[in-house]
Amino acid sequence: MPKMTLKCKKCDKTFTRPGPFAWHMQSIHGAKKKKKAKAKKANWRGKKRTMKKGGRPKGAAGRLGLKTMNLEQLMQLIDAARYEARSRLAEIEASIG
Ligand SMILES: [Zn+2]
Repeated sequence: MPKMTLKCKKCDKTFTRPGPFAWHMQSIHGAKKKKKAKAKKANWRGKKRTMKKGGRPKGAAGRLGLKTMNLEQLMQLIDAARYEARSRLAEIEASIG
């Protein structure tokens, strides 16, 4: 009497161990025992910072003002990043020689 064999009903392939058999069923025949529905939540937690600068026209360019605000913030961010990069580079250069 041979060892315990697991036979695939779909392609008559035999397996001696349940592990490869399960793998075969899943990978070859696409059989899935467990259904896992992964719900990816697009949870973007962006911190909103509203920087208000004086001297901005209000009222008429309400929506436009908000847009320029964001752009301004972006530019400020870029400037800040550039400044930081520059200072870090200076630090590195100073440490090197
Ligand atoms: Zn099979």
